[in-house]
Amino acid sequence: MTVSPTFSADIVAAMERAAMPDFARWQRMVYATGGCAQPVRLHGERLTLDSRTGEVLDVYRTADEPTGYLLTACGNRRASRCPACSAVYKDDAYHMIISGLRGGKGVPEEVSGHPRVFATFTAPSFGAVHAHREQTGKTRPCRPRRDHPVCPHGRPEGCGRRHDRDDPQVGQPLCVDCYDYIGAVLWNAHAGALWREFTKAMPSVLARLLGISRGELRRMVRLSYAKVAEYQARGLVHFHAVIRLDGPDGPTAPPSDRCTVELLERAIRQTAGRVHLDLTQESVRWGDQLDVRPIYVATELDGVSDQRVAAYVAKYATKGAESAGTVDRPIRQPWEIARLTVTEHARRMIYTCFSLAELADYKSLRLRQWAHMLGYRGHFSTKSRHYSIRLGDLRQARADYRAEHARLLSGLPSPAETVTVAEWRYAGSGLRNGEPFWARLARQQIAIARRIARERDKQIA
Ligand SMILES: [Zn+2]
Ligand SMILES: [Zn+2]
Ligand SMILES: [Zn+2]
Repeated sequence: MTVSPTFSADIVAAMERAAMPDFARWQRMVYATGGCAQPVRLHGERLTLDSRTGEVLDVYRTADEPTGYLLTACGNRRASRCPACSAVYKDDAYHMIISGLRGGKGVPEEVSGHPRVFATFTAPSFGAVHAHREQTGKTRPCRPRRDHPVCPHGRPEGCGRRHDRDDPQVGQPLCVDCYDYIGAVLWNAHAGALWREFTKAMPSVLARLLGISRGELRRMVRLSYAKVAEYQARGLVHFHAVIRLDGPDGPTAPPSDRCTVELLERAIRQTAGRVHLDLTQESVRWGDQLDVRPIYVATELDGVSDQRVAAYVAKYATKGAESAGTVDRPIRQPWEIARLTVTEHARRMIYTCFSLAELADYKSLRLRQWAHMLGYRGHFSTKSRHYSIRLGDLRQARADYRAEHARLLSGLPSPAETVTVAEWRYAGSGLRNGEPFWARLARQQIAIARRIARERDKQIA
């Protein structure tokens, strides 16, 4: 094929891919993955049998596919790894959060009347860092100091610059030698456990505030929550959480009238101020900055709207530690650290993870394995059982819907009357030469179709 030289190498490769005999089938598969950027290729087969007679009703073999394999989506949560799969994850996270605020997906609508707040839990300070400061819409100086003091390393302890929000200096320490890297890494490594302590301690604080016993509290109220982790510019994790009070059996009934938003906020503040984890040398606790806001159905009053909270949480659910200037995959060997394109601050945290990993006291933290996460090894989004639907259930519902669609097309009997036996083997992953162009196109077309559907839904509503 001759191609005009004005086309880029990408386009030429894409056209060559399109000329291959398996292209039509491959393109349908890539659409089915949502335009996944690193799809997984599978070899194998699936048999559908009559559950009573054992008769083989259908055979699917990847060997019979024009491509010779089946493509499946990578399912990666991170936007930096796969824009298609992370968009699906973000959508699911949004529905998980909003159904716990408004009802839907098996949660009763009355849940919107239960006391709930949006709280942000931060880490303490481990040393002075450059910061974007704002007051009445104006950017303020970072750390103005009249007397120009210097630290023991001869570096200024103040900074008179006005940093924009996206200034790469923001979050970087004023002096890397003064900064407590061990404290920072240990904090990240224990942030998940600190959150668990918090949720365990909340009921007794609530009971004390109400002047009742734990047993009486259990008959009156149940605590539900959903939280996501986010990295601050300074490389420390913080948590955004929706915390809600339900009746004793969960979202189906409101809690006792005595359980108000004010009570919830007081209990959160008291609990956060109290919980700590004692390590060999130090104690891990939350930082002083704790933001607690009521969540309203509408935006009036001095709170945040449920929609905004859900969108906010969903956005953070697809972010990794990259926003803190680190890398999005594990670092295997110490010599790799010097070569990473990361901020100096992130590099110091990664080095600290590797050196602490050598100490017997910190073995269980598996800091080497989690060095690229700057020590944090917890989940990015978690929720209590009764908050709302699980992300896994949303995925299952989609898979069931697709399976049902395929079954209707192939004319097979209902799943109750059949058994499927499948065996899949990993045959590789990622897009090959000429394929990224078509995956991108699939992604764009799917995004447009979604937008049109949303607009139509809005017009109908
Ligand atoms: Zn993907
Ligand atoms: Zn500064
Ligand atoms: Zn210093």
